[in-house]
Amino acid sequence: MEELLEELLEECRPYTKMGKLADYIPELTKGNLDDLGVFVVRSDGKRYSAGDSRKKFTIQSIVKPILLLQALMDNGIETVRSRVGVEATGKPFDAINMTDQSLLSENINPMVNMGAIAMCTLIHGETYEEKFQRVLDLTRTLACNPDIDVDEAVYESEKRTGNKNRALGFLLKAYNMIDEENIDAVLDCYFRACSIRVTSEDLAFIGYALASRGKAALTNERIFPSKYGTYVNAILATCGMYDGSGDFAIKVGLPAKSGVGGGIMAVAPTRMGIGLFSPGLDEKGNSLAGIKVLEKLSQRMYLSIY
Ligand code: GLU
Repeated sequence: MEELLEELLEECRPYTKMGKLADYIPELTKGNLDDLGVFVVRSDGKRYSAGDSRKKFTIQSIVKPILLLQALMDNGIETVRSRVGVEATGKPFDAINMTDQSLLSENINPMVNMGAIAMCTLIHGETYEEKFQRVLDLTRTLACNPDIDVDEAVYESEKRTGNKNRALGFLLKAYNMIDEENIDAVLDCYFRACSIRVTSEDLAFIGYALASRGKAALTNERIFPSKYGTYVNAILATCGMYDGSGDFAIKVGLPAKSGVGGGIMAVAPTRMGIGLFSPGLDEKGNSLAGIKVLEKLSQRMYLSIY
């Protein structure tokens, strides 16, 4: 398996330079286009890696399934579903509704920014610091890594420049889709969540917990009920790769989530969790070389669920 991963990385290395670093915040332009790493956690407990699998980067949108999991664990499916829908938006992750029609909760999705910001309000906690801390703790538990922390420079940068996300937060309030009055506090929780620092190894462990529908890789302890795993995986399969989810479903065929930091977490139900990192992004915001590696891995190991 390790040989296969090495081979795939070499085959896909030329794609790393074809992508573009995210540049909506200055901090992310400091990434290195040469980085490429993969980590696999299998259901038999075996772990394999190749390349820069221990390089740290910010989780960005890959925190969205974790926000969703926490919201489900705190409120149950019915409440979450009534506040944020499940249909694919087919629009970019930060799209703002430019029509004059009313926005309804069924029109948003937890894997795009508006839905994820709404999700922050559903997480239990006295304050937004407490809510965020619970998200960070869940991330650590899923990844079996108590050392996961926040990249403070990215967080500051997100906060300073996140005006489009602020607009989304205020739109949610304007359309009565969230109860919270203090939108800045909600956004602070969202910006911090995006700035959690992980490795491909961490993403593979988180992917494993979803692949096993709730069990931690190292301890086999149950972290969340399996019905939440089914819920999250289905949403990942239909909307996890932004408005490139349909193409990804055909080429790779796995529930997955990407982030503009260059990470991808993929879930092969009952079989494995896969973490990838390569910061060069395609025009949709997905790691270009990361998708290529997954495409080849899926073909070679017959991973597609379709
Ligand atoms: N922090 C980014 C934003 O909210 C995350 C986007 C992403 O990874 O898709 O704009």
